[in-house]
Amino acid sequence: MSSSSPSLPSALTQPSASQQQDNNVVEARTNESTLICKICQTVVILKNMTTEWLDEERELPLTRQTKGIDHTQTELVKGYFGVKDIFAFENVGFTRSADGKKFLVCGECEEGPVGFVDPNTEMNYVTPERLDVLQTSV
Ligand SMILES: [Zn+2]
Repeated sequence: MSSSSPSLPSALTQPSASQQQDNNVVEARTNESTLICKICQTVVILKNMTTEWLDEERELPLTRQTKGIDHTQTELVKGYFGVKDIFAFENVGFTRSADGKKFLVCGECEEGPVGFVDPNTEMNYVTPERLDVLQTSV
């Protein structure tokens, strides 16, 4: 009596995944603050330049890679401001990973990656997790 039914186990734990629609993770939103490089304080993007907020985790290479490891170490970073036009940025550079993904780095000191380029939409996404907010002295 070997039932070799290939049906997938339907009891996989789905942590409140009822609303995982594509159009729920992106919302129209502009960056309320000027974002600067954490290392050299160069302005990466001025405030009110982005057009959307991507509320999603994406893998970014670690800022500091451990030496002697032959693959890129990554971590999940959640939350990105998105903008289509690369000229929206004040100072930004690109790096390309071994597998062809494009990432955004500080245009001055190349700290990062601070974001990534979506290969399908060519949207540029930067994460406030890897940037500092410019404090305007009052
Ligand atoms: Zn920098």
